[in-house]
Amino acid sequence: MRLKIALLLFCGFLALGARSQNNKAEIDEKVTELLSKMTIEEKVGQMTQITITTFDVKDKKGEIDLTKLNEAIQKYHIGSILNCPNPGAPTIKRWNEVITTISNEANKTRLKIPVLYGIDAIHGSSYTAGATLFPQQIGMAATFNTDIVKRGAEISAYETRASSIPWVFSPDLDLPRNPSWSRMWESFGEDVYLSAQMGEAMVKGFEGNDVGSKYNVASCMKHYIGYGSTTTGKDRTPSIIPERVLRQFDLTIYQAAIKAGAKSVMISSGEINGTPVHASKYLITDVLKNELGFQGVVVTDWKDIIYLYTRHKVAENNRDAVKLSVMAGIDMSMVPEDYTFYNDLLDLVAKGEVPMSRIDDAVTRILKMKFELNLFQSTVANLKEYPKFGSQEFIDVAYTAASESITLLKNNNSVLPLNKNEKILVTGPTANSMKYLNGGWSYNWQGENSDTYAADKMTILEALQSKTGKENVLYTPGADLANLDDTEIAKAVEMAKGVSKIVLCLGEKNYTETPGDISNLYLTTPQIKLALALSKLNIPIILVLNEGRPRLISDFEDKMSAIVQCYLPGNEGARALTDILYGDVNPSGRLPYNYPRYPNSLEKYNRKYTESLGDEEQNNDAEYEKSYSPQFEFGTGLSYTTFEYSNLNIDKTQLNTTDDLKVTVDIKNTGKTNGKTSILLYLSDKVASITPEVKALKRFVKINLAPGESKTVTFTLNQKDLQFINNDLKWISEKGTFKIQVDTLIKEFVLN
Ligand code: BGC
Repeated sequence: MRLKIALLLFCGFLALGARSQNNKAEIDEKVTELLSKMTIEEKVGQMTQITITTFDVKDKKGEIDLTKLNEAIQKYHIGSILNCPNPGAPTIKRWNEVITTISNEANKTRLKIPVLYGIDAIHGSSYTAGATLFPQQIGMAATFNTDIVKRGAEISAYETRASSIPWVFSPDLDLPRNPSWSRMWESFGEDVYLSAQMGEAMVKGFEGNDVGSKYNVASCMKHYIGYGSTTTGKDRTPSIIPERVLRQFDLTIYQAAIKAGAKSVMISSGEINGTPVHASKYLITDVLKNELGFQGVVVTDWKDIIYLYTRHKVAENNRDAVKLSVMAGIDMSMVPEDYTFYNDLLDLVAKGEVPMSRIDDAVTRILKMKFELNLFQSTVANLKEYPKFGSQEFIDVAYTAASESITLLKNNNSVLPLNKNEKILVTGPTANSMKYLNGGWSYNWQGENSDTYAADKMTILEALQSKTGKENVLYTPGADLANLDDTEIAKAVEMAKGVSKIVLCLGEKNYTETPGDISNLYLTTPQIKLALALSKLNIPIILVLNEGRPRLISDFEDKMSAIVQCYLPGNEGARALTDILYGDVNPSGRLPYNYPRYPNSLEKYNRKYTESLGDEEQNNDAEYEKSYSPQFEFGTGLSYTTFEYSNLNIDKTQLNTTDDLKVTVDIKNTGKTNGKTSILLYLSDKVASITPEVKALKRFVKINLAPGESKTVTFTLNQKDLQFINNDLKWISEKGTFKIQVDTLIKEFVLN
């Protein structure tokens, strides 16, 4: 009997294996066959991506002009459309109509190749009205919980497919090196290991086991590569990144996402060491396609081929720019507002300046993705199959994600949690708007309409008032984000006189990309003035930060009793924050970046030793200003309970070059409250031929502990964890001593 079951199972496995192999072989066959029937015009059209707003009826934004759509699909054979129609986030029903209109047009073509629709669903299906909006990526990173990140991406995939869209421009795998970068919050923060783990989880969540299923979408890693590393911190300005560093850090994140199956990649709008990435055959073809074996679609970012001649000045005109970029390895151009790419590429092929083999490579990749996504079967969602769209089940996951992301940075004298009977003043410019909880890429590009689209969601003020009643929660804005008004500040000070605590909500406007550029990393002046004025009252202040990047607070930080970093926690963020402030939820987020204290001290936690002179190096003749003193270090995150670490053990103190290392540590909840916490394991290579990092995160795990409960956590390190990239661009490890650190516990081992 048992044998029979085993045999049946075995045959089942064989059949399954055969099916998925056939599927791949079948798709390859279908692609080859279709490609052989295509004209050059049809091929170049497939490589062309246009924004939906191009088809607007004149003076009637949001209404599709069928003549323009017909021209795009019949005359220019376009393969892909992107973006949110005007005026912003359609309902799933409206999306259904839009995609049906596009599909009907595509079905009238000779080969009936479906149009691939792509969208910026970056914290949930954020361009669909009524969708579940999660914390932005920086908050998801702060959860240090890959399960919730994966679950969030699954929900986002479900709701994006419910919107009849099969392709998302996410995850963001940028590694910001300057915290003032306006897209810091779209990333997973400053650490390569954390970003790689989170990126992998997100890709798996989006794509599932079968990207063609009606609940999965193709992901798009972005922005390959080095986009987040601009020297100035301003968007789309140059980066200087040695290749050794690019490979050890940035490329490692992409490798993890490619391994997880990512179907596409978007190229960085930036330039590295003087070469725009869109013009880099080395980075796109040699490294990404050949060395890493990436088989998916390479799409440009917005208008970036045009920018090669209008901004970067590496091409004389559009035709040269198209040639440069297509020969570098671009498969699809997000043109996105005209047909210049199509016309110039056709001409380049006709004159033999771009070989047909390059076009065929690009179109093969695009068609393959269309087959894998099952678009030839259907492009329009059957709405009945998406009963969970915007459901309570999904909202609960977004709430959990927000509550696991919010990070308690300071809690002097246990001023938090608040008492439900005490009277508080809520003030500050970010206290009463959904815009500051969602940020950019919410319902439209800059996210300025969150209050309309998320009118049924609670702002911080509303959530606090709903918790303890309006009589206990006074409110006045206190300050504007930009304009100084002393009478507003005076009003807040006056109102504060009758309360026992102040919840001060400061932060940033909603923004993304260039509109979010700043020249001053400090919080804006009206906010600093408000904080300083209130601090004179000697009433405990709980500073709540709603910000996409760490705006400096060193002018008044010492006067705050507690500090809570919310990042951009999404539609459920205020409820999560309120539950944390009143102690109904125990905070468990950790900072995914170093929070700087000063603008000239932007060191990362994994700095080099020369970036943090120790006391022992102080000179008797002169006083050194210590360079490394972040306001809060990477990994900071307090709890209402206490955790005690003990028994850090390693299974070997001498390793050979094939050994793994098993690390165990005990953690006990020694307080009175249930709590989640992430255990972070750091490694330091004590001496190396390339100056070593002070420490680098190598593993983390999040666990829950009841009061008095302890758990043993096991991590396994492998040889790759001991390696770095040397000057010959090779991953190597070197003999010598390594240090493991978990919390304050330390163990050393030797690699022989
Ligand atoms: C952004 C991308 C985005 C694209 C499409 C660009 O401006 O840099 O991140 O995916 O627009 O909206």
